[in-house]
Amino acid sequence: MREKPVERRAVLYSNQPPTPEQTKRFQEFLESRYDEEIPLVWEESWEFPKGFRLEVGLDSYDWSIDGRLRQLRSALSRIQGEESDKVIPLLRKAVESWQPEVIAEEEGRVVSIGDGIATVAELDYATYGEILLFNHGVRGMIQDLREHETGCILFENGDKLRQGSPVWRTGRTAGIGVSEDMIGRVVDALGGAIDGKGDIPVRAYRPIESPAPGIIDRQSVSRPLETGILAIDSMFPIGKGQRELIIGDRQTGKTAIALDTILNQKGKDVICIYVSIGQKTSSVAQLTENLRSRGAMDYTIVVHASASDPAPLQYIAPYAGCAIAEYFMEQGNDVLIVYDDLSKHAIAYRTLSLLLGRSPGREAFPGDVFYLHSRLLERSAQLSEERGGGSMTALPIVETQAGDVSAYIPTNIISITDGQIFLESSLFFSGQRPAVNVGLSVSRVGGDAQTKAMKKAAGAIRLDLAQYREMEVFTQFSSDLDDATKRQLVYGQGLMRMLRQGQYQPLQQYQQVILLVAALNHAMEDIPMDGIAPFMAELLDFFQLHHQGLCGQIERTGILTDQDREEIITAARERAAAWRKR
Ligand code: ATP
Ligand code: MG
Repeated sequence: MREKPVERRAVLYSNQPPTPEQTKRFQEFLESRYDEEIPLVWEESWEFPKGFRLEVGLDSYDWSIDGRLRQLRSALSRIQGEESDKVIPLLRKAVESWQPEVIAEEEGRVVSIGDGIATVAELDYATYGEILLFNHGVRGMIQDLREHETGCILFENGDKLRQGSPVWRTGRTAGIGVSEDMIGRVVDALGGAIDGKGDIPVRAYRPIESPAPGIIDRQSVSRPLETGILAIDSMFPIGKGQRELIIGDRQTGKTAIALDTILNQKGKDVICIYVSIGQKTSSVAQLTENLRSRGAMDYTIVVHASASDPAPLQYIAPYAGCAIAEYFMEQGNDVLIVYDDLSKHAIAYRTLSLLLGRSPGREAFPGDVFYLHSRLLERSAQLSEERGGGSMTALPIVETQAGDVSAYIPTNIISITDGQIFLESSLFFSGQRPAVNVGLSVSRVGGDAQTKAMKKAAGAIRLDLAQYREMEVFTQFSSDLDDATKRQLVYGQGLMRMLRQGQYQPLQQYQQVILLVAALNHAMEDIPMDGIAPFMAELLDFFQLHHQGLCGQIERTGILTDQDREEIITAARERAAAWRKR
């Protein structure tokens, strides 16, 4: 009996199936190598991301870029011993000094272009988030991978590009240059200076999208990040590494809270990053000037993608800000980052998604808009001691329409953050500023970070205010109230008055403690409403003058002893009695 000949088979490995032309070329190669007809099959493999590997029986051929380079290198070293002219050293040098950055790996063509979006074809190995190079120095980032085409967002003006223009892969994901010299500067979404003070030297290159620190790399939030705003530090304390949302309608003082928090970090060794998305350049210039005149630009970086910038730049701005923050965090620094605001960011993302032809979902946002914000906010962390102990605290801002917190973007971001400061128009217009709605605001992890002194001083303020609000609604239409109820209303109104605080007037911890202890122990009850603000100012001055030791000790240790507490109550009552006699 004759033995059946073993059937030979050629297997082609790559991460993507070969195009018909490529298949034809492989078949021609097989025919030229082997005298028989060999069937060619393709198998998916992620081992060879940059090309193909062909296996025929025991023979294997490397068509990957790495393999070709390796072959070239060994071919060069073999030539060494033989007669070689001057070309060889030149070639060797070129191969040895080869850098992945300078190679344009694959060339494709622009299929269509417009509105800051380019569709390109013939890029078979392009990856999501990879930077593409176009003519005229235009850069773009791959944002949509389809079967035959790739959607790309442009970072520069693409007006000069035409259909059929060439485009090259770079093999790099989008990133920005970062350095300590960024502190005090205003940069765009790509890290370039836009304050007219010259280029910023780059120390490191960081991808704008990078994985969030894992659970092992983190530790729990335990140190306070003081905002200097009494209503927040007493009731909704923020810890380093926390993500606290600031949410409210337009013109309710959202930016003001973030700005005051930045001002309050003066001398506290916290690097602040303010990311403005889709705002007018003039208002950001004013805000920067405000920071500068108050000395806060010494530790602050402003990242700005204005309303008139293309949507792709507005889209990457928060990620760029986050990459800068990570650079500092990983060196063990504490960083505070403000995203002002993520509603506009979501809108920019919606714009470019619709232009890319993605199908719209709820409120016309693309389906992955939740992931958009979660992967950004997850990068905030309190790193473990092994990772240097740095932290990134995030204050994202979201604008609501007519107080509707149940809209798509607000609910998404509320669910990602560790709490929210809810600002209300009606409070703002009635003069209660900052317009914090005590009932709807919450801070989920910051309580652990609050100092003992603040905890002890703030005691039952939330409960007292809740009771006051209930009582207020209940007694709204009744005319004769008993004395106890009246007193409780006056007490509640007094507390609300105490929580009013002007802009740019952050309070130190010891000042907050003194005010809270005095007010919650009913020391201010007999002061008329209009007198509360001047009385508070006087009380603080008095303590600053006559009880310096107590002030310094609370600030330093974060502890309020019973004796200190008594001292504050007694002094406050005395001052109040003196005030009434005037
Ligand atoms: P937008 O929706 O336009 O971004 P916003 O919610 O960020 O507005 P801000 O710009 O911070 O609001 O504040 C609106 C106005 O209210 C500003 O003129 C600001 O100076 C004023 N303001 C904010 N907070 C206070 C405060 N605590 N006391 C007095 N005025 C304030
Ligand atoms: Mg604002």
